[in-house]
Amino acid sequence: MTKNGGLLADALVHLKPLMDDERISDDARRRLSQPNRVVEVEIPLRMDDGSLKVFTGWRSLYDNTRGPGKGGIRFHPNVTGDEVAALSFWMAVKCAVVDLPFGGAKGGICVDPKQLSRLELERLSRGYIRALLDVIGPDRDIPAPDVNTNETIMGWMADEYRQAAGRHQRGVITGKPPGHGGSLGRTAATGRGALQVLNIWERRRGRADQRPRIAVQGFGNAGFHFARLAHDAGYRVVAIADSRGAIYREEGLDPLPIWERKHESSELSGQVYCEETVCSEVEVDKLTNEELLALDVDVLVLAALENAITEKNVDAIRAPTILEIANGPINNAADRKLAERDVTVIPDVLANSGGVIVSHLEWVQNRMGDYWSEDEIERRLAERLGEQADLVFERAIAEDESLRSAAYRQGIERIAMAMDGLGT
Ligand code: GLU
Repeated sequence: MTKNGGLLADALVHLKPLMDDERISDDARRRLSQPNRVVEVEIPLRMDDGSLKVFTGWRSLYDNTRGPGKGGIRFHPNVTGDEVAALSFWMAVKCAVVDLPFGGAKGGICVDPKQLSRLELERLSRGYIRALLDVIGPDRDIPAPDVNTNETIMGWMADEYRQAAGRHQRGVITGKPPGHGGSLGRTAATGRGALQVLNIWERRRGRADQRPRIAVQGFGNAGFHFARLAHDAGYRVVAIADSRGAIYREEGLDPLPIWERKHESSELSGQVYCEETVCSEVEVDKLTNEELLALDVDVLVLAALENAITEKNVDAIRAPTILEIANGPINNAADRKLAERDVTVIPDVLANSGGVIVSHLEWVQNRMGDYWSEDEIERRLAERLGEQADLVFERAIAEDESLRSAAYRQGIERIAMAMDGLGT
C-alpha cells in the first residue's frame, strides 16, 4: 500500500531532500518512512429501509512522538487506506511546523454522505467511533472534522465515546459544537489562519496595500470562510469553484450571499442585491474547474482535494502565487515544475494549520473545563501562527529554498529532535 506509487509515496518524496540534513538522524528518517499503524474497520450500517450496508473506514496514526495523534475524519467515496495514511503524514508534519504537542493521524470512511439520510449519517458516525474505541482517546489519538464532516458529526462522535466510556471525555474529539465542549472560532479557523499566512507573505513582499485578485477552488468550510474573510479584508475574489463548476466576475464576488444561496439551490450563482423591494442577481460567467485553475489572478487558492494540480494541468497555471488550503493539492511532479517557473507555493502544512491550532485550543479548554471568548481564541491563533509562519519565511529566505522545503525542515527537525531525545 505505501511503498509503490500512491499518495503516501508521493507525499514522502518531500523527505528526500532532508536525507543529507545532518540535523535529522538516520533513526528518525527510518521511523518517519512509514506510518506507525493504519487500522481498517468494517462498519455495518442499518439503512432506513431496514437493509444492511457495510462501509470500510480507516484510522492512521503516522507518528505520536510529540504527543497524541491528531487529525480529521473525512467522508468521501474516494477515501482509501493509502490516502488516509498520506493525510496522517501531513498532519504529523503540520502539527510540528506550528509546534503543537501532537503527533499526526487521520481517519476516513469510504462513503458518499450525500446518499445517506441524516439518521443514517448519525448511525454511521457513531458506528465509526464504536469500531475505533481502542485506538482513539484524549491522550491517544484525537479526531476532528475534515472533508464532508462537521461539528454536528463531531458532536455525535463525542457523545458515542462518552456513552462507551461512561463519563465525559470532551478532549477525545475537537471541532464539536459549542455547548458540547466545542471552541468558539473553530469553524472559521482554517480559513482565518490561511488568510493570516497569506497576509504575512504579501506584507513581506511589499504588496499589502494592493487589492490582489483571487480565485478560490473549493467552497467547503475552509474555502468559504477564507473567501469571506479575504473579501472583508479587501481582496477581490473574482472566481469561486465547487465540485460542480465555477463562477467568475471581474469586479469581484461576495462569498457570504453566494454561500447562503448555494445551500438553498446546491448550485453556485451570483449574489443577489436588493434595493428597497427590487432584487437583482449580479451577472457571473460560468467556468469549469480547469478554467478557474488557469485564470490570470494574483493568488490561486486551492481549497478542494488532493491532486488538483498535476503534471497534466500544471502548464496552464498562470497565477504567480498559490495558497494551499486543501491537503496535498499539488503533486510532486507539478510542484517541481512550479518551482522551476518561480511560482510561490504557500504550503498546506503551514497555510491550513489554523484549524488544528484551534483544535489544540479546544482540547486545552476541554482539559481545563473553562472556556475562552472568541477574541481570545483569535488572539491565540494569530500569535502562534504569526510566530511560526515568520520562522518558515525567514528560513526559506536564509537557506534560499522553497516555502514547502523550509516548512518541512521546520516540522521534521522538531519531530526528529523529539525522537532522538528519547535516545532510541
Ligand atoms: N482536518 C483538519 C486538517 O487537515 C483539522 C484537523 C484537526 O483539527 O485535528 O488540518
